[in-house]
Amino acid sequence: MSDSFPIPFEWKYCGTCGATLECLSDGEKLRPYCRSCRRHYYDNPVPACCVFIRDTEGRLLFGKRAVEPCLGAWALPGGFMEINESGEDCALREMAEETGLSGVRARLLGVSTSRNRNNNGVLVLGYLVEEWRGCLTPDSDVSDLRFFLREERPPVPFEAHRELLSLYDSLFP
Ligand SMILES: [Zn+2]
Repeated sequence: MSDSFPIPFEWKYCGTCGATLECLSDGEKLRPYCRSCRRHYYDNPVPACCVFIRDTEGRLLFGKRAVEPCLGAWALPGGFMEINESGEDCALREMAEETGLSGVRARLLGVSTSRNRNNNGVLVLGYLVEEWRGCLTPDSDVSDLRFFLREERPPVPFEAHRELLSLYDSLFP
């Protein structure tokens, strides 16, 4: 597994006017600030989802990553939320893109706010999908797709996925 996370994200220039940002208190703490736009910039976690696709034998679907970060590692299907999506939309879209399966509905399991290894904040929504249509077809982001029994699960590189897998195991012992 390679360690190829991009450098941590940091506000340096205003995304609207391009001016160099300064540090100014917003009344709570020092934050990047654009004097010409009179706007503070905030470092908020980025919402993402991961999908627990469960078959009738209780196995979960994992995809082998064909892209960085963590190329070659197995992980739950998922990805970052687009601006106009609900969490369920995001889960079903990522599922369709990565696995070729159309989920009938996605049920919220829980949320992880653990930081990734790049120390950027992510807020990962875990969704459960038990019913779908279509055939397993890996897209270009995954080289293989496989259902795993609990005791056969591969190691997963993302802390948020591990945290949500523990939650899943506590909900479905
Ligand atoms: Zn500005």
